[in-house]
Amino acid sequence: MDTTTISVSTALPRLDPTAVAARRRVVVTGGAGFLGSHLCEALLRRGDEVVCVDDLSTGRRENLDGFFGDPAFAFVQVDVSEPFVVDGEVDAVAHLASPASPPDYHRLPLETLAVGSRGTENALKLAVAHGARFVLASTSEVYGDPLVHPQTEDYWGNVNSVGPRSVYDEAKRFAEALAAAYARTEAADVGIVRIFNTYGPRMRPEDGRVVSSFVVQALNGDPLTIYGDGSQTRSFCYVDDLVRGLVAMLASAEPGPVNLGNPTERTVRELAELVLTITGSDSSVDHQPLPVDDPTRRRPDIGRADTALGWAPTVDAEEGLRRTVAWFAARPRAVAVAGSA
Ligand code: NAD
Ligand code: UDP
Repeated sequence: MDTTTISVSTALPRLDPTAVAARRRVVVTGGAGFLGSHLCEALLRRGDEVVCVDDLSTGRRENLDGFFGDPAFAFVQVDVSEPFVVDGEVDAVAHLASPASPPDYHRLPLETLAVGSRGTENALKLAVAHGARFVLASTSEVYGDPLVHPQTEDYWGNVNSVGPRSVYDEAKRFAEALAAAYARTEAADVGIVRIFNTYGPRMRPEDGRVVSSFVVQALNGDPLTIYGDGSQTRSFCYVDDLVRGLVAMLASAEPGPVNLGNPTERTVRELAELVLTITGSDSSVDHQPLPVDDPTRRRPDIGRADTALGWAPTVDAEEGLRRTVAWFAARPRAVAVAGSA
């Protein structure tokens, strides 16, 4: 199999010597996605150079519009499930490439397994070749439908390995196992974060996740699609908080796994009510079937994030949703949201 060589120049435009001493060149896989684009932005803001590697399968070039003029930023369209190397210095690799929304990974099952396995190994090899820090964006989905609540990092999870969600859950569990094995056998500087449901600007309006769906439906005056009776819970984290945690993990030597999420837990029905209140919408509610293996509850224990990274979220749901609603309201959103099947 051919190896793609990524040869892009990034340059630090700033002459401040302290910034030069502290700056790193960071490869962000999945950098054109929702979280990845916010991470690229945060890294550029702290003075790093960023090489964003993305195949645009679920990400969008327009997420990067604000950075294309920045000489410290480069974008390359590459599928990281195929072998690739990056020329020049690499100080850190943040591996975020993967479909993440349930409708996306149901549509792309083999690609999801490929990027969790081969893609993760390619990104790990890149980090090892450069002696770079490697951070894996894992997920609360490794806990499956959890039997321990709230979820601590030492809980091993309850995942159906052959159900429709397994392409994502098991890909991430394999990715964690691979990263841990590279840390043991290759002395790779690995950090694993388990991200809980995160929302905010730059979610795709049609991505089918609950926050983007409810916000778009409420703004359009369409019924909010609650799957099941809406008693299942999630704990929603605003994107700025989450990205602050990723940046802290990149800067630390913490191996993890570390949960990153907002521990305030809500039912899906409560989320629908909050979105209706914040948007002032009079949309009705439309109950649809609960997807197979939909986890009944989710709440992170974030004690380790606090101890290891000094991290805790600061944006509450009311404020985060207000910012998210304002962002969606300013954009075209005439889309049908994916169903629950
Ligand atoms: P997203 O779909 O917006 O972003 C994923 C990005 O990865 C996209 O830009 C996509 O084009 C890219 N990508 C996918 N396969 C690729 C491949 N083979 N090669 C190169 N690029 C590829 O999703 P997101 O919400 O930004 O999630 C980012 C990461 O965080 C994912 O790894 C996801 O599993 C993890 N995560 C996210 C959440 C969340 O709530 N947003 C929760 C848990 C974990
Ligand atoms: N959900 C819903 N309506 C939607 C989309 C999702 O009721 O339009 C539910 C879904 O069944 C799940 C929760 O909201 O219980 C969170 O779904 P999401 O896809 O955002 O994230 P995940 O299932 O990966 O936690």
